[in-house]
Amino acid sequence: MLIVPERDIADLMTRAAAFEAVEQVFAAMASKDAYNFPVVREAIGHEDALYGFKGGFDRAGLTLGLKAGGYWPNNLEKRGLINHQSTVFLFDPDTGMVRAMVGGNLLTALRTAAASSVSIKHLARKDAKVLGMIGAGHQATFQLRAALEQRDFEKVIGWNYHPEMLPNIATVAEEAGVPFEAVDLEGMREADVIVSITSAFAPSLLADHVSEGTHVACMGTDTKGKQEVEARLLAKATVFTDEVAQSISIGEAQHAVAEGLIRAEDVAELGAVINGTHPGRSSDDQITLFDGTGVGLQDLAVAASVVDLAVEKGVAIEVDF
Ligand code: NAD
Repeated sequence: MLIVPERDIADLMTRAAAFEAVEQVFAAMASKDAYNFPVVREAIGHEDALYGFKGGFDRAGLTLGLKAGGYWPNNLEKRGLINHQSTVFLFDPDTGMVRAMVGGNLLTALRTAAASSVSIKHLARKDAKVLGMIGAGHQATFQLRAALEQRDFEKVIGWNYHPEMLPNIATVAEEAGVPFEAVDLEGMREADVIVSITSAFAPSLLADHVSEGTHVACMGTDTKGKQEVEARLLAKATVFTDEVAQSISIGEAQHAVAEGLIRAEDVAELGAVINGTHPGRSSDDQITLFDGTGVGLQDLAVAASVVDLAVEKGVAIEVDF
């Protein structure tokens, strides 16, 4: 069995490798070569932790496995550890033998950023110039770095519920050589692409804050009850997702579907656009919206990619098992 510890991931994994792995697995999901297993998520009654498993099998990439982990809210304060903890386990699909154990914390941020980045590549207007960010927490910095690589953005505008956190994303924009401006939500009308990544349970971005032709990536809503954008925006937009079942139950589309504004059939898989079986954006004034809910296959894809990189560089730890 190979081990790639959390401490080695930053030196091994690149945004380009994460992008490629996620793009390929979205395509495999849409062509039914890959599927996610039902998610297990339990409040374990200890340390207020939420623990669970996200697994799947990609027949095209021959990746089988699961990500185990969750959220330990007391970690930072009590132990100086990050609150989100996860590990990916990969298995040989021919034999069922365990192939690798891989640190999943940084990989989760990279695969989530890769998902919105893939959506920008395939759905945003080619001439997009202004990138809007809603959210300035841990994930937002990764989202911004990855999004900036997809178009020749000339400006980043940002809004956050806690404005004192905005320097987190301003620094990333400035490091990439792109000017940053803090705006109010009405100011988001200037954006050609908007990435939203917050832990909100009520909408911040309203339908009237989004101009025609904008691509919106909603990345924060991954649980029942969470919501980042007004449900009416989904009714105005052409909606895409990683997995329709998750989008309408735990993703941003849960609210629009519950309110009868859209139906499950109105939500298309981003993978179908990648495969060319869905036309994607059809005009320059259409609003496209990607509901990125986060699927286990994304975790497995980036973990398999980092195992290959670790083997290539001779740093994977091999143990008899
Ligand atoms: P974080 O705690 O570092 O940041 C939280 C962000 O949400 C901050 O910008 C904060 O200001 C904002 N926020 C908090 N309360 C708000 C409110 N009431 N209204 C509007 N904004 C509010 O968290 P993070 O690690 O950056 O994660 C952000 C979200 O992304 C979480 O909901 C997490 O579950 C989700 N997430 C999704 C995926 C996926 O695959 N889709 C993957 C990882 C994380």
